[in-house]
Amino acid sequence: MFPASMRRLARLARLGALLAATSAAMAAPRGASTGDMEGFSPSAAAVEAALEQRFDAGLSAQEQRDWMQSMSSEPNHVGSAHDKANAEFMLRKFREWGWDASIETFMVLYPTPRDLAVELVAPTHFSARLREPPVEGDATSEKTRDELPPYNVYGADGDITAELVYVNQGTLEDYKELDRQGVSVKGRIVIVRYGGGWRGLKPKLAYEHGAVGCLIFSDPRDDGYGAGDVYPKGGYRPPDGVQRGSVQDMTLYSGDPLTPGMGATPGAKRLTRAEAKTLMKIPVLPISYADAEPLLAALGGRVAPPAWRGGLALTYHLGPGPAKVRLKVLSDWNQKPIYDVIATLRGAVEPDRWIIRGNHHDAWVFGATDPLSGNVALMSEAEAIGKLAAQGWRPRRSIVYTSWDGEEPGLLGSTEWVETHAAELKAKAALYINSDTNGRGLISVEGSHGLRHFASQVARDVGDPETGVSVLARSLAAERVQSYEGGGRPADGSGDLPLGALGSGSDYTPFLQHLGINSLNLGFGGETQYGVYHSAYDSFDHFRRFGDPTFEYGVALAKVSGRLVLRAAQAELLPERAADFANSVGVFTEELHKLADGMRASSRELDQLLDDGVFGPATDPSRPRTAPQRESAVPFLEFAELDTAVEKLKQSAKAFDIEYLRLCSAADAGAALERERMNAALTSLEQTLLDARGLPGRAWYQHMIFAPGAHTGYGAKTLPGIREAIEDRRWNEANQYVGIVAHALNAYGARLDAAIAAQ
Ligand SMILES: [Zn+2]
Repeated sequence: MFPASMRRLARLARLGALLAATSAAMAAPRGASTGDMEGFSPSAAAVEAALEQRFDAGLSAQEQRDWMQSMSSEPNHVGSAHDKANAEFMLRKFREWGWDASIETFMVLYPTPRDLAVELVAPTHFSARLREPPVEGDATSEKTRDELPPYNVYGADGDITAELVYVNQGTLEDYKELDRQGVSVKGRIVIVRYGGGWRGLKPKLAYEHGAVGCLIFSDPRDDGYGAGDVYPKGGYRPPDGVQRGSVQDMTLYSGDPLTPGMGATPGAKRLTRAEAKTLMKIPVLPISYADAEPLLAALGGRVAPPAWRGGLALTYHLGPGPAKVRLKVLSDWNQKPIYDVIATLRGAVEPDRWIIRGNHHDAWVFGATDPLSGNVALMSEAEAIGKLAAQGWRPRRSIVYTSWDGEEPGLLGSTEWVETHAAELKAKAALYINSDTNGRGLISVEGSHGLRHFASQVARDVGDPETGVSVLARSLAAERVQSYEGGGRPADGSGDLPLGALGSGSDYTPFLQHLGINSLNLGFGGETQYGVYHSAYDSFDHFRRFGDPTFEYGVALAKVSGRLVLRAAQAELLPERAADFANSVGVFTEELHKLADGMRASSRELDQLLDDGVFGPATDPSRPRTAPQRESAVPFLEFAELDTAVEKLKQSAKAFDIEYLRLCSAADAGAALERERMNAALTSLEQTLLDARGLPGRAWYQHMIFAPGAHTGYGAKTLPGIREAIEDRRWNEANQYVGIVAHALNAYGARLDAAIAAQ
């Protein structure tokens, strides 16, 4: 899938040239002698630094290149022969490298298309091609025999003919605007462009507004010729390139649609398809801009608002009609096996504390960038750690390397594994580190904010392959330049990486948001030409030209992720800087105050405009636009309990961080015991943020601080129970979740207090 941070990276990438010019003035990564590592005493940090030098020596760009070439040589979607072969290849490798490895198999609902058609039946006739022809210079694009045609997995079956309506990106705001323009989608097929949120929300909102079918196209403005030269000249989406993808409603739960909350083992009790809430209710297909163009050109009705117009050389009309379209989707609704590769290196001192590292291995077609670019870095790490073990080294805590299957259809492999082993993971998992796509550019890290300083120190100690400065220095420089140029928020002066909040879109979701396991997600990117997302052109030949030609960013990812794993496994104290978490929650809370205040002011203004009757006279009488609906008044919410909890948490965090630093290097007789007590508290600290009732209408999501937005899908919502209640004007629920979130923050603070209480 697609990390939400890619857009941020693309903006940052434009600053590349500037950075190169100033790089001489910037700090190079520190060498092996550095002593400052979170959770380590100075002497242990020196040992760790030496270990990391040996780890680095075990990484190979050439191997990553070879693995990617062979693993992306055939289609490797769920259920394909090559997907299974790749899992077995990794199993052999992990064992060869000394890991205790196995494949864990689950049976999941995975429909595959049998009969697809998109036809314009009026006013003229056109049959959509619905496939991706070979491209010159791309060896695998000719291997179409085993690939699935472009489709959206978990869309409904159907064969319908109806008038077409253009709905822009198909967001709630877009439907409000359509309503004011007097256009209804009831009984019609919508054509919607990618962008503006998780693709699964497009058919979902279309259905909720009465549409009977949904076509999603890639507008060339976004990742085609509007972004750069198209493949094979450049790396952007060619006219026939299609973005496949899942449309299961992951805002409710991820994983196999038939086994929510439990592992999809052979004997598991399954829902019927009719009972599964995450399956889409209407047929939906993704199409290329070559196929979309004749459909859009045949639309009449009003001209679309300026912000709705894309990059095609035609006038974008809303419809409905006269374009009439037939959409046919028939699938085989079978269960298919998925193959998770799980490899363990048992800890010598604390074997029941696990540091888990994961990336997925399944793709939509060949998947060189998504996901193999991240997966081959993970393999490099496993090999290098295996070499350390072969020399007699053992980690302090257990290390678990995982390569997930079935991520693309809906985080199936990770979710089913997490659900199957939930009790053990809640007891043992201290940290989950995820990656997915990777390529040239800047690092992006998202995750639990108590890990911010830990992740930043690792970025400080790894060099950027092209500029010679540290990965951290590049990121901080870009943040400052971007802020100066008006595109971003100012750096906070901490010298640490900006850490994004986790929404969804990759395998950390079940770990963090279902089980409350501390998580990080990371990758390099933004300086690639990646316009072939989820198409057959996401290939080895594309990656070696436009992704990471030297594979040095694959090595850099392995250096960063490997250090995160090794430090978390080796440190005397598990990573945590509580003040960073407390301050972040403070910022989120301030945002909620501003959100409610802003909505109150805006609703009052709207009331005044409606009372004064200005919408009528303001509109063009020949193309009238009706007034917006009056909104419910925004009350003053009962934030006091939350504000109090945040202040209290800040106090607890401050005391905890002081004691944490002392304990790192304390050598007195009781110190070891105190450290053990602190580690026990830290292992499951994040779980204090769960509430067993979950979020409103989606009990599977139990984390009270981070969730994917119900109306955004990929994008994170912080303090989601409160924030989404405010956004949806459910005031009682907002007040109720103030209490629930305050309770969770108090539990987190109490755990910090207990960890440092004198015995
Ligand atoms: Zn992916």
